[in-house]
Amino acid sequence: MARCLRVLPALLAALSPMWSGCGGRLEDVARMRQCRSNMNTLATEQALYRATYGCWADSVDLLDGLAGRTEPLLCPSCSKGYEMSVDESGYTVECPSDNPHGAVVNGTPSWSEERPVSRGGSS
Ligand SMILES: [Zn+2]
Repeated sequence: MARCLRVLPALLAALSPMWSGCGGRLEDVARMRQCRSNMNTLATEQALYRATYGCWADSVDLLDGLAGRTEPLLCPSCSKGYEMSVDESGYTVECPSDNPHGAVVNGTPSWSEERPVSRGGSS
């Protein structure tokens, strides 16, 4: 018992750096995931729009209408709507944030697919 009481504070001290600031980062990751999920949704709806009308939707409003959304999708970090641009090569939907979460170009995300969480930083 006495040994336990001596070890426990050391253990807590060793663990606490992992906890401090962790909440903020986890929140950022959650927002980034939500934002990318929104962009994937818009990309899916673009494919549906093109299949239906034979052209890309040149604004997010058109996709909102197609999906029956009453509230537009917003980036959870900056609460702004997504930017849609269309040209002859296809479409781009972009995160509007000052610290953008990425973009989807013609259905291809700019970010790499999620990897399993690796322990201990870079490898
Ligand atoms: Zn975003």
